[in-house]
Amino acid sequence: MSQKEKTLTPKLIKKLWLAFILLVFLMGASYIFITGYFANKYSQETTQRLNADIAHHVIAEKFKDASPFLEDGSVNKPLFGDLMHDMMAVNQSIEVYLLNETGEVLYSVVLDHGDKSSIKSVSLTPIEFFIKNKGERFVLGDDPRNIGEQKIFSAAPYSVDGRDGYVYIVLAGKKFEEVSDNLLNQYFTKLGIGATMLTMLFSLIIGLLAIWFLTKNLRLITKTVRKFHDGDLQARIANPENSDIEVFAKSFNEMADSIVGNMDKMQSVDLLRRELIANVSHDLRTPLAILKGYIETLQIKNDTLSEEQKQEYLQITHDNVDKLSNLINQLFEYSKLEAEQVTPVKEPFSITELSHDLIAKFRVIAEKKQIDLQLDNPEENCMVFADVSLVERALQNLIENALKYTQANGKVTLSLQKKGKNVEINITDTGTGIAVNEQPFIFDRYKQVDKSAKKQGYGLGLAIVKKIMDLHDTTITVLSKPKEGSSFIFHLPAYQV
Ligand code: ADP
Repeated sequence: MSQKEKTLTPKLIKKLWLAFILLVFLMGASYIFITGYFANKYSQETTQRLNADIAHHVIAEKFKDASPFLEDGSVNKPLFGDLMHDMMAVNQSIEVYLLNETGEVLYSVVLDHGDKSSIKSVSLTPIEFFIKNKGERFVLGDDPRNIGEQKIFSAAPYSVDGRDGYVYIVLAGKKFEEVSDNLLNQYFTKLGIGATMLTMLFSLIIGLLAIWFLTKNLRLITKTVRKFHDGDLQARIANPENSDIEVFAKSFNEMADSIVGNMDKMQSVDLLRRELIANVSHDLRTPLAILKGYIETLQIKNDTLSEEQKQEYLQITHDNVDKLSNLINQLFEYSKLEAEQVTPVKEPFSITELSHDLIAKFRVIAEKKQIDLQLDNPEENCMVFADVSLVERALQNLIENALKYTQANGKVTLSLQKKGKNVEINITDTGTGIAVNEQPFIFDRYKQVDKSAKKQGYGLGLAIVKKIMDLHDTTITVLSKPKEGSSFIFHLPAYQV
């Protein structure tokens, strides 16, 4: 049971956890990187701001009594030696440089003057920027000891004995870097562990909450699916639009609806089939019984029957064989249409010509019954786009019915009329008409098995007509008044020549 209750598979849980661990490490690493970067910047900016005036101070204090240059123009090395040793004694991380006005390094204790490869001049742009902003804006300058490296500094201009230049003090010299690297490494380790632990903790909480929220909906859906699977066909996810996985919830509900719809359809088709079989066997039985009866009479009473009687019986047998074959043909046709085995082959043809042919064909029957059969065709030639043999079949059934249900001296009219993009076909008779309550069902005779009283036909003719209309994406309407007559009307798309 507990196995059944699980919503997520162990495989999915494993994947989710792996994704979480990866996420934690990525977050931890980016956290450390970002913190390290900003901590470093923060420390540099603070040091620069705090020591912004140091170069000014050097000039004001040390150049007051002694010139930085000797009379021969060379650098006053003893003065600088003292100055730098004084300063470095207080703060070992600073390095003092004397620059001329082009940024060339004239002297420094820390620089190895013999080393030709070491940088001898620095860019003046950051120095000028620094002086202009009075050291209040963060800027990095060249490190004379390491080509390409940038350091925080303090700088101030001097003008002594007609010589201009700058005192340039690197605030985070080699010593600062050593200490800072060491500290940073320690902090990084601590920070890394702390950050990773914290991130892990938060991710775990968020992850668990996320899984819980996600599976909350999944659990509900799984429960509903199981209910549906166990036979509760009404099981649906309530308020799917409020679900976090709305599309999934809606899809399930739609799927359940269509499954139930299909099941209903299948059940009704099944019911229809059973009704059809019941009706067919009933319809076949009657003419067969008549046939059997007359054949038996002919066999038993062959010697006693007059020639006239024999002929009469044979005629009845013949008529019933006709009826039977007619019924079988209709059944065959209907079942083919119902099984959707018939594909209409649509083409342009003259419905006027077809109507003329049909009227000519039925005229003999009409005359026999003394019915006036007319074609009312005000248009010269109506062309339609449809399956000619299927339309012929439909018209045939409708004319047959009109003639069948119309008494002597009645009238049957087939009229064609162009209406917009369609041709309206109307078969009107002055026959018995159809009761209003029966009208909705005449096209589905087999659905009306219990209600329909025994009629003259088998009730397949109009069902076939309806199927033909469906194949042409059109509908047929019946207008009828009992004792006055009926009209069957349908439309076919007109073909423009
Ligand atoms: P049937 O073989 O019984 O004529 P149809 O499917 O052709 O079967 O018609 C179904 C029923 O509709 C008929 O039994 C009849 O009651 C009624 N019907 C059809 N056409 C007409 C009509 N022109 N006038 C009166 N009733 C009609």
